[in-house]
Amino acid sequence: DPRIQLIASSIRVVPDFPKKGIMFQDITTLLLDPKAFKDTVDLFVERYTGNGISVVAGVEARGFIFGPPIALAIGAKFIPLRKPRKLPGEVISENYVLEYGTDCLQMHVGAVQPGERALVVDDLVATGGTLCAAISLLERAGAEVVECACVIELPELKGREKLNGKPLYILMESH
Ligand code: 5GP
Repeated sequence: DPRIQLIASSIRVVPDFPKKGIMFQDITTLLLDPKAFKDTVDLFVERYTGNGISVVAGVEARGFIFGPPIALAIGAKFIPLRKPRKLPGEVISENYVLEYGTDCLQMHVGAVQPGERALVVDDLVATGGTLCAAISLLERAGAEVVECACVIELPELKGREKLNGKPLYILMESH
């Protein structure tokens, strides 16, 4: 798809951020280009329209940028999956392992009903730990996670293998 080239070229790579040796994929420059931003959303909307998906769950923070326009366009609700102590209501929590230490995602109880078909959205998959936690939250609430969708995959980190066979759809790989 010719749109992928434009999207890829709009993403800035920042070396040594947030620490030495990391090539950070900065999607804020994609957001500065309305055509690239729209093309990104459109590619996901084209894939997920008419699939019976009633829930789009976005991972804090950049899943909050791409998730809502996808949800609106396919007629699904949006659920924010947040870092601890951000959601005011009753939550369920899922801890996951980072390179150094652990992190946690939380979801409001009652946000999703058993049997609902869900899509998980984030900007980038690295080790897969974040998506794995997101899938667990939704499945514990009884939802069926149809697929995870990210703009970028870092294939060397093999995050795909951590998703227990759950399909992962990406627009591009970055090395
Ligand atoms: P994982 O849990 O797969 O190791 O890391 C993915 C999470 O870290 C995502 O929520 C993603 O936003 C963030 N992340 C890790 N590396 C990068 C990066 O290079 N660029 C951006 N935009 N996000 C990153």
